[in-house]
Amino acid sequence: MLNLVLFGPPGAGKGTQSQKLIEKYGLIHLSTGDLLRSEISQGTALGLEAKKLMDQGILVPDEVVIGMISHKLDDNKAAQGFIFDGFPRTVAQAEALDQLLETKNAPISGMIALEVNDTELEHRLLLRGKESGRPDDANPEVIRKRIKEYKDKTAPVAGFYEKQNKFRGINGVGTEEDVFKAICAIVDSY
Ligand code: ADP
Repeated sequence: MLNLVLFGPPGAGKGTQSQKLIEKYGLIHLSTGDLLRSEISQGTALGLEAKKLMDQGILVPDEVVIGMISHKLDDNKAAQGFIFDGFPRTVAQAEALDQLLETKNAPISGMIALEVNDTELEHRLLLRGKESGRPDDANPEVIRKRIKEYKDKTAPVAGFYEKQNKFRGINGVGTEEDVFKAICAIVDSY
């Protein structure tokens, strides 16, 4: 089984690269951001609670996203592997994911981090906000809050995988194809 964690700040290109990876390697894409937005559009209680936080650029509680991922893993028992996109976003989530995968005997193969500077990130997110209509992309203050949440709570997750010798960083600035090639070179080495 191939289990990839695609890592990087908001706007680093995780969603775009995930789509290309799914096609090439036949993996299931698990994006907690997409799962949460789907809860919001269905108007569930979970979605309503999550929306309040997401609109401010704040992370939703660990137990909420861990529960969602756990269900999705159960729903896809026959999968060849998964791409985790936007998860784990805290060290507690990373620990929970290791435990969930332990019961399946299918550990994380590796974490690939897309490295992009703050100026480029803000520029990309504001542009995406115009096209996607995502409320959290339209407001510069919310974007800065998300980048701050990333630095405070999410960046330490890299160290968690580094300790397991599973961390690989790549340059996330360049053409989509160049970034994809760099990712595939790592994936093919697993
Ligand atoms: P981006 O990577 O552009 O920030 P996402 O779609 O991954 O976009 O996430 C959007 C928002 O959803 C986040 O700002 C956060 O509020 C919430 N969210 C997504 N994934 C998680 C997670 N694993 N833990 C906590 N909150 C999350």
